[in-house]
Amino acid sequence: MVAEMRAVMAYGPKDYRLIAKSVPKPGLGELLMKVAACGICGSDLHAYRGAPYYWGDGTKPGWMLAPVTPGHEFSGVVEEIDGEASRKWGVKKGDPIVVEQILPCWECEYCKDGDYHLCAVHNMYGFQKDAAEGAWAEYCLINSKSLVYRIPAGLDVAEAAMVEPLACAVNAFQTGSVRLGDVVVVAGMGTIGGFIVQLARLVNPKLLVVVDVMENRLDLARKFGADVVVNAAREDAVKKVLGLTNGYGCNVYYEVTGHPSGVIQGLEMIRKKGRFVEFSVFGSPATADWSVIGDKKAISILGAHISPRTYPIALELLRSGKVKTKGVITGRFPLADFDKALEKAADAATSLKVLLLP
Ligand SMILES: [Zn+2]
Ligand SMILES: [Zn+2]
Repeated sequence: MVAEMRAVMAYGPKDYRLIAKSVPKPGLGELLMKVAACGICGSDLHAYRGAPYYWGDGTKPGWMLAPVTPGHEFSGVVEEIDGEASRKWGVKKGDPIVVEQILPCWECEYCKDGDYHLCAVHNMYGFQKDAAEGAWAEYCLINSKSLVYRIPAGLDVAEAAMVEPLACAVNAFQTGSVRLGDVVVVAGMGTIGGFIVQLARLVNPKLLVVVDVMENRLDLARKFGADVVVNAAREDAVKKVLGLTNGYGCNVYYEVTGHPSGVIQGLEMIRKKGRFVEFSVFGSPATADWSVIGDKKAISILGAHISPRTYPIALELLRSGKVKTKGVITGRFPLADFDKALEKAADAATSLKVLLLP
């Protein structure tokens, strides 16, 4: 076993470096994973650019504790494991695995209620130094409190890094409780949006509409089976959806744009008693007339966060080929080129998900 490994280390906004550090030693009930692939998330880009939520704003501390190795969307192979961890997770040395991004404390009220994805401590791989070092590295230490799953035969180990965003999309999608007669709008055709479109296609609602402002993304939405695509930069998306529905609007609206205008647009194009699913992380606050929610439309605003209990579903969707990553993965870079990978990930006109392959 080598003693040193290469890892990316986040020291501060735009100060990320490739360094050598010692390979972590798994303790009782833990495992050491050799990283196969790790995705770059929108949240990683927000952090890289220095968003106050991650680094603090002078009055309150940030959620991220640096210096830390980023990376929470990962897959790999068990390198070292003890009997206790092996029994607990049902995996052994050499097995391909994915691990949930959240590292639950299992002691707070949320964890005890089964809502471990809302854990009050909320450590997540790649955001808290020492406690939850991420997988932009050759090896990653998996904490004994983690949720670990074996990757089924037939699914490529590196591709399985896409289980994290897909599991998030499964949670968001199911939150909307889509029914066969529904008109469904997916606003924002990024990685999560692209997966939600494919999931909606599996259910086959009455009409599936995708709204974005990038042609490359709308092309992909067509390939994934959208009935109608709308480029909101060129046409009035609200008018279009109202026109398609005799003026009623959509039954379900998935807000995965990350932009405040996606909220306003949704409130305008959703029908009365509609279900508005919010999954985005926003760079700035969204301002809306709340009378739409109650008095005018009596809609349900449904928030969804990460991926409770959806990793097994996502693994099976990828294994069976019912959901595809082709077109969603737009770049694969070696760890040493992480800066190029970040650049590519930030280029929305050509890119959705970029993977680092240590
Ligand atoms: Zn993520
Ligand atoms: Zn907890």
